Amino acid sequence: MSDIIQLLPDHVANQIAAGEVVQRPSSVVKELIENAIDANADTITLLIKDAGKKLIQVIDNGKGMSSTDARLCFERHATSKIRNAKDLFNLHTKGFRGEALASIAAVAHVELKTRLADEELGTCIKNEGNTIVSQEVVQTAQGTSISVKNLFFNIPARRNFLKSESIETRHIIDEFLRVALAHPQISFALHHNNKDIYDLRAGTLRQRIVSVFGNKMEERLVPINETTDILNITGYVAKPEFAKKKRGEQFFFVNDRFIKSPYLHHAVVNAFEGLIDSSQHPSYFLYLNVPANTIDINIHPTKTEIKFDNEKALYAMLRATIKHSLGQYNVAPVLDFTRDASLDTPYEYKDKTPITPKITVDPNFNPFKTEDSPKSYPSSSNKTFTSKIKDVGNWESLYTDLDIKPMSEPKQSQLFESEQEIETGKTFQIQKKYILSTIKSGIVLIHQSLAHQRILYDDFLNKMTNKQGSSQQLLFPISINFQQEDIELIQTIKSDLEHSGFVFNDFSSETIVIGGIPTLIKESEITQILEQLLEDLRMEVPDTNFNYVDLMAKSFAKSVSIKTGKNLSPKEQETLVNNLFSCPNPTTAPNGKTIFKTLNLNDIDSIFNS
Ligand code: ADP
Ligand code: MG
Repeated sequence: MSDIIQLLPDHVANQIAAGEVVQRPSSVVKELIENAIDANADTITLLIKDAGKKLIQVIDNGKGMSSTDARLCFERHATSKIRNAKDLFNLHTKGFRGEALASIAAVAHVELKTRLADEELGTCIKNEGNTIVSQEVVQTAQGTSISVKNLFFNIPARRNFLKSESIETRHIIDEFLRVALAHPQISFALHHNNKDIYDLRAGTLRQRIVSVFGNKMEERLVPINETTDILNITGYVAKPEFAKKKRGEQFFFVNDRFIKSPYLHHAVVNAFEGLIDSSQHPSYFLYLNVPANTIDINIHPTKTEIKFDNEKALYAMLRATIKHSLGQYNVAPVLDFTRDASLDTPYEYKDKTPITPKITVDPNFNPFKTEDSPKSYPSSSNKTFTSKIKDVGNWESLYTDLDIKPMSEPKQSQLFESEQEIETGKTFQIQKKYILSTIKSGIVLIHQSLAHQRILYDDFLNKMTNKQGSSQQLLFPISINFQQEDIELIQTIKSDLEHSGFVFNDFSSETIVIGGIPTLIKESEITQILEQLLEDLRMEVPDTNFNYVDLMAKSFAKSVSIKTGKNLSPKEQETLVNNLFSCPNPTTAPNGKTIFKTLNLNDIDSIFNS
């Protein structure tokens, strides 16, 4: 048989690469602005027409390119930013792959004008679908101007996939603001369809935040500042009283790059613990600087995730620094850790004669006996036990509302072989966060909220994919106001929402009227749940493989799940454990986190023998 393998021509390879680098107009915006920053520009202007579908132009006053470089910059793997593999571990530029311009030119019509500072004339090159169609000497300002027209002219599927103008504009503004917030010392302007949207003068970080988010921000910001060997944190958090119902003003930058990190986000939220309600979101603008060789950003050009060498230490430092700053600004209650509040004498007791407490000892209590239920406890403690159950009695009703009864007969999960099988009934709640359950081989420690998310996620996903979500009719339909772009987003996922049990009576440009909701969702929480869903959708960069149903199931599960801090009655704990282990994959939560850990007798023994 003859040979059949051939190398792909460059223009095909570029088009394939473009599929990853250029997902939508905002990806072009990001790449072009980042190039301008790498070229040391201190003034950057972005011009957009029709949400980038007609035109995306970035003009900078950076160092410009020679005529040879101007031609070469469109080649794949053509970069001035790294020379060898070693440089990869010490990156100080945004770009380094030499892929962006090649990818953009593969799927658009590009015009590049550029001039070096010490040259009189510059170069203008037109590149259409990776073919250079003209090169001329031109008069032009120092720096570079790149305009991108007819994006995806040769990939109709992608062009058709683009969302409405308002959604694409939102994505562009998001990218623009992320870079603008990362570089307050650079002036940025954004014009859309000849309207001025932003005109941000160079200044301090505080000035930049205020000019983006408005004067009201001024009084809200609490500065954060900490320098250690492995990390330098600066920036601001907003005072807890200004925490928001909607997420949004939450920004992490690592070495001047916007990143998303659920892990570090958790550290911030944790620092606010006790200061804000769990349904509220703190605003933050945090800038982490770490040695370039301790992070790996070489993951994917469009991804905003990042890998740190010492994530745990960063978490602890971030949390402590924010807590400290909130405390310094007198916004955190001053806690006296040396005093145990339970030992304080209530005022009304101060004149009473102390009575020696009577201690009841249960002579029959055997800590090594595993079979007996609490009936062998002394009667006094038994009393408090029952009264506690009474306190949380209303929680059972919540559970019935949430319908977390076993979806099917609990199947024995593969994880627990016969000798390890779970003995339900012996569960304990720890710090209103974990459930400890005995199993034959030892114990299992379960994160209550993650466990519930897994159960709900499976249920939502199942109902939505089979299009049989059960719906509860609302006596009085609810009208909710949204911004126009949010309404459009809801329109796009309308049928999936209906499969989950939503009934929409009406859609106008700013209001939706809901006549029915999924049975798992409470009427009072509906606005919050939809806002969260929109937020989650906006945080994703949908590509062709994007699965709305999965994201919706995740989002709903997260919103509806019981949270840390909720008391659960023994019955609820038991149901939760049973339901969890009847899920096909009880080990990981929809967000990828571990739901439970087991400790067998050997593990426990080794704790004591070490
Ligand atoms: P990368 O940024 O990864 O190097 P790009 O494809 O984005 O790859 O750009 C290729 C090269 O073109 C850059 O390395 C840089 O030398 C040059 N370049 C791109 N944009 C500009 C600009 N605005 N000003 C000066 N040089 C630029
Ligand atoms: Mg680049």
